[in-house]
Amino acid sequence: MPLTLSQLNAAPAPEALSMLDGLYEHSPWIAEAALQQRPFQSVAQLKYLLTEVLDKAGRKAQIALIRAHPELAGKAMVSQSLTAESTNEQSKAGLTNCSAEEFARLQQLNAEYNAKFGWPFILAVRGPRGTGLSRAEIIATFERRLHGHPDFELQECLRNIHRIAEIRLNDKFGLTPTLGNDVWDWQEALSEFSEPGFAEQGQLTVTYLSDAHRACAARIQGWMLACGFDSAHIDAVGNVVGRYEALANVFDTSSQDAISNNNDSYLPRQNGEYSPKTLIKPKTLLTGSHYDTVRNAGKYDGRLGIFVPMACVRELHRAGRRLPFAIEVVAFAEEEGQRFKATFLGSGALTGDFNPEWLDQLDADGISMWQAMQHAVLCPSGDKAAALQAIAALKRDPTQYMGFVEVHIEQGPVLNALNLPLGVVTAINASVRYVGEVIGTASHAGTTPMNQRQDAACAVAELALYLEQRAAQDGDSVATMGQLNVPAGSINVVPGRCSFSLDLRAPNDLQRNALEGDVLQKLEQFCTRRGVRYEIQPTMRVSAAPSAPEWQQRWEAAVTALGLPVHRLPSGAGHDAMKLHEVMPQAMLFVRGQNAGISHNPLESTTSDDMQLAVEAFAQLLEQLAGKNRS
Ligand SMILES: [Zn+2]
Repeated sequence: MPLTLSQLNAAPAPEALSMLDGLYEHSPWIAEAALQQRPFQSVAQLKYLLTEVLDKAGRKAQIALIRAHPELAGKAMVSQSLTAESTNEQSKAGLTNCSAEEFARLQQLNAEYNAKFGWPFILAVRGPRGTGLSRAEIIATFERRLHGHPDFELQECLRNIHRIAEIRLNDKFGLTPTLGNDVWDWQEALSEFSEPGFAEQGQLTVTYLSDAHRACAARIQGWMLACGFDSAHIDAVGNVVGRYEALANVFDTSSQDAISNNNDSYLPRQNGEYSPKTLIKPKTLLTGSHYDTVRNAGKYDGRLGIFVPMACVRELHRAGRRLPFAIEVVAFAEEEGQRFKATFLGSGALTGDFNPEWLDQLDADGISMWQAMQHAVLCPSGDKAAALQAIAALKRDPTQYMGFVEVHIEQGPVLNALNLPLGVVTAINASVRYVGEVIGTASHAGTTPMNQRQDAACAVAELALYLEQRAAQDGDSVATMGQLNVPAGSINVVPGRCSFSLDLRAPNDLQRNALEGDVLQKLEQFCTRRGVRYEIQPTMRVSAAPSAPEWQQRWEAAVTALGLPVHRLPSGAGHDAMKLHEVMPQAMLFVRGQNAGISHNPLESTTSDDMQLAVEAFAQLLEQLAGKNRS
């Protein structure tokens, strides 16, 4: 019989401890400490509290826990002296069936890893979906992590230990993240479509209106209809728009006696008769994210935000339930700006931001956007004016919408480091970019004394270090010099020129402006002191998109309802929500990424357990909105 949370909450301490037996390898003290915080509101909360215990236990206890683990496919496995849990995991990953070559490679990696870090390599071999990593994946991860910094690798081992404990807990409670698994599987299935040149190498690349892109749209449309959306169509820019309509009759909730709440059916109270005065047109909740990708992308960037609400609509449809508002899920056709210079083509079309000149833009193969649109049969008449008219008609009337919410993988390391599956976005950062060049004097590296140089690279280097320090001072600003070049430099010449780039971001415009002001002032100062001059031009400036407070609070309440602590963070990356922000209130929910949150990279990953929590948080948000409309 699987364990239940109420059993665990009610059991006497020794019994409760034995219920959590084997969670952490030879280390019952972790469960013991967490159990002191009973009652648990949810298994997700218990999982988080366990991570907190280990976090507070300090480095010595953490290393001891890691050392309590067996090596992967190591001596303990061969001599069959593993714990029952480890035997199950290692055999499920097929490690007991290694070829002689694989076995030898693993032994070699074990030895190198131990020599470098002083503890065994830990990997949750059942993987992000709980079904087991392949031996090739295990070996590749092992090889990659061997190059890590010891401090990072220590934390990565602990995160894998928590993931192992999470799966063991799921087994104890008989929990399967069914909805998360479906979302995970949809993303996996969609990643089968990739462009020629990438697909052959197992890489995911889906740029605007390529054949792979069109196949994705058709697949998403089909899934939406299968999930019970009332309609799903591909619009004039290639967005897939699915709608799940509201209750047929929705009454004005501002009128106190208009509604009686009777098991989610919204009936008029006035002697059982409809009151035409209070009948209102239901509004629509807008949500979604993009399905295009960068080149050699991860599988979850954008797509997670399509499939999480899709799973919610499917559950509503299965329950035969409608809400007092409609749900519109848009799979945006273009966000990444990979094929053409324009970005946010999908969400931009909804805000009326589509420049007709974009149709003449050429991709790297000389194909215009208009030709690509015709190839994709987005405008069956083949008439440019008609196409532009159809695109203009995509502009949404904000008064018909409640707001826009977007679920997205974090694409950063913050939630992963905090052991938190979900985070609430406070704002999409303001940003500004510059390209510049410092001009000094190229002179002989041997004959020019240090106090008589005009070294352009040193001035830029000084600025790079200032950027690092100045952004860190804000706590949540970021500043990057991604390009730093000495054009035609020589090993024996003092750099006469040095070109560089600046990328500055902060959660609000004022903070960004202050950062920018200080950086430009220092550039001036450094150059004056060094007797060099500079040129600099801004190339991009985008305002911050702060979350609408009432919508941010809804996400916070949803996270709280799952028993998880609320962590607020700004989004360093741009998102479709930034575009919708121009016309309606918006707020985003972030989902933790594995592998330190790496993104725009095939290593991008998140677990089906985290996806399950994202679906549950989205369902909570829908309940809140439904509750508000009926109160
Ligand atoms: Zn994205």
